[in-house]
Amino acid sequence: MSSKLTRRDFLRKTGTTAAITSAIATTAGAQMLQPGHRGDTRVELVPSNCEMCFWRCGILAEVKDGKVLKIQGNPNHPLTQGKLCARGNAGTALLNDPDRLKYPLIRTGARGEGKFRKASWDEALDLLATRLNDIKKKYGPEAVAYFPHGVSSGFFGTVMKAFGTPNSAEPAFAQCRGARDVGYQLTFGRPVNSPEPIDLEEAKVIVLIGSHIGENVFTSQVTAFAEGLKRGAKLIVVDPRFSTAASKADWWMPIRPGSDIALMLAWMNVLIAEEGYDAEYLEKYALGLKELSEYVKPFTPEWAEPLTDLSASMIRETALAMAAARPAVAIHPGRHVSWYGDDTQRARAMAILTALLGAYGRKGGMFLPTKLKSGRIPLPPMPESDKGRADGGGSKFPLASEESQGLTQELVEATLTGQPYPIKAWIVFGQNVLESIPQRQKTLKAIEQLEFMAVIDVLPVEQSDYADLVLPECTYLERYDPPAIVTTAKRPFVAVRQAACEPMYESKPGWWIAKQAAKHLGLEGYFPWQDPDDHLRRLIAPLGIRESELKSLGAVSFAGRPYIEDRTEDDGPLFPTQSGKIELVSSVLKDLKFDPLPVYVPQDSPPEGFARLIYGRAPMHSFARSENNKWLADLMPENQVWIGPAFAAKGGVREGQKVVLQNQDGIRSAPIYARVTEAIRNDCAYMVHGFGANAPKLREAHRKGASDTPLISRVKVDPIMGGTGMRVNFVRVLPAEEA
Ligand code: SF4
Repeated sequence: MSSKLTRRDFLRKTGTTAAITSAIATTAGAQMLQPGHRGDTRVELVPSNCEMCFWRCGILAEVKDGKVLKIQGNPNHPLTQGKLCARGNAGTALLNDPDRLKYPLIRTGARGEGKFRKASWDEALDLLATRLNDIKKKYGPEAVAYFPHGVSSGFFGTVMKAFGTPNSAEPAFAQCRGARDVGYQLTFGRPVNSPEPIDLEEAKVIVLIGSHIGENVFTSQVTAFAEGLKRGAKLIVVDPRFSTAASKADWWMPIRPGSDIALMLAWMNVLIAEEGYDAEYLEKYALGLKELSEYVKPFTPEWAEPLTDLSASMIRETALAMAAARPAVAIHPGRHVSWYGDDTQRARAMAILTALLGAYGRKGGMFLPTKLKSGRIPLPPMPESDKGRADGGGSKFPLASEESQGLTQELVEATLTGQPYPIKAWIVFGQNVLESIPQRQKTLKAIEQLEFMAVIDVLPVEQSDYADLVLPECTYLERYDPPAIVTTAKRPFVAVRQAACEPMYESKPGWWIAKQAAKHLGLEGYFPWQDPDDHLRRLIAPLGIRESELKSLGAVSFAGRPYIEDRTEDDGPLFPTQSGKIELVSSVLKDLKFDPLPVYVPQDSPPEGFARLIYGRAPMHSFARSENNKWLADLMPENQVWIGPAFAAKGGVREGQKVVLQNQDGIRSAPIYARVTEAIRNDCAYMVHGFGANAPKLREAHRKGASDTPLISRVKVDPIMGGTGMRVNFVRVLPAEEA
């Protein structure tokens, strides 16, 4: 990289090309720097990990006189090896964001009005404890619901459990990855987890079904993807939009949205009919091949063609390409998979295909996690609620289990209805409830009914104006968080997050807020550790490393056993399902009276004049988390809506025109620019999620572009695990001046 390249140039380059390799860049200048120097200036390098998204890449913060000057990638990090994306480089713009929450605030105006007065931490925490205890006395501890997001929110999660509420929900489950993890757990006995253990660099065929890697950037995953392609992997991309990944594909399959299960059943049909499956592997490890074979017999490529809008010949050709490459076929299980309400079954179909190809636990397919023995900090017993969870997890939605991260939308519903019991207070920690939970109108209504709401965040996101109490958390660069103990890497590792500088203003780390809140609630016994060093020491003690060593390296990795042939007895059962085998036919689903094999159910088509609303990511943003970041907003200040030419013509809309989207329930979006392009089917409208913040205190992001969340006024709920299928809304497009 030229020494004349400015940071701005670098970021512009990484962000705007969105190409696979340029979305990732070894941190600007990192190779040229002598450790400990920045030009002539002596700097301290503090290893930590990034939180501009939740991939947690290894960083080195360059610190001088207590100030973070710059962030570079940590070459010691086993997964990300010194690479950061544009967002990772832009972390200092979050640190120095003038809009940050600076001190505790107590509401003085009406909910949503945005009027607050400054409070001391002592007063704020007293108020928190008093209001929570009042609610506990009146309604029981279960009347407090917790909405966390991010690793630092775990500390306050302990406060909530100790307080006695079982009600906690993150969008990561019902609005994102839950169905995928349940589908793979049912099939292989373990969830996919994050980072996804996909062997992209060793694959001979990579299959992406709605995964837009390259626009969805996680550094190590994009690097592995690019490496796989460089080594000659064939690429199959199933996507109604010509994504960045589709532009690299050998086969782009512009599928009719909602018909993925039909495509996968047809692929299974070909693999079985043409004996393209791994018979030896299935004989040894799987149950149910005979039943599956009978089941998929009618689902020929010709059957699937009119359902998917994909030619039978392409369906057959791609299935045979997978068969020829097996077991080195990496079928990416996806990440945000809450699409149509049949999402657990779609994940099951992906898992079954992976199994047919003998690709689970094999090189070039999906690799196996390697356990690490981390420490536990003994706590007093947690109180048990005799009322159970209000979100229906484990009962109404049987596979939203104890370990799952809860069902946000069901807690909203319980707040609105008072059923199964009243919910009267919300604690929202780092979760953007108005952008991440669908049916925003309902969420707002629920908030208005609350007796108490506290928001803990770094930035004044929209919901903070509705809170009774706002507590400023400091950024990831200013705090310790529990270490990342990552088992789903070929070499498992532990990586530290430590403060590179003191918290600015009166903001505080999540651990401190939780520990102090516990003290005010008389629950300090649940925080028996002294400080972050003590906490870290106890957690990593069984790994045989010292906390000083981890803190100076940033990350330490261990030998992994990623493939079946590497496994030892210590790793436990290969397939920890109910039967101890891969379950092509799910015994758990059968017992629960759900379909034990995936069933294709046609989805509604858009009404005349409407297109299906779909959404995704951009490489330089992490949804609404980053839109107020000046450097990233400079790269992409607002979103556009992609629409096909025929659909645009129906709405009388031209390329580059400002338009408004109106959904099937008459709800309208904010104005947004139209991108009229052949690169999307005419029955779809696509936008990047997270823009259109209605938060005046976020001065960079306020009212830039449009949010898709208000348009998602309908959902289809997955009956197995309670995920909210959100690709079931339709929009028409109107010129903004006519709207
Ligand atoms: S992918 Fe980018 S934003 Fe996410 S953790 Fe890595 S560097 Fe940070």
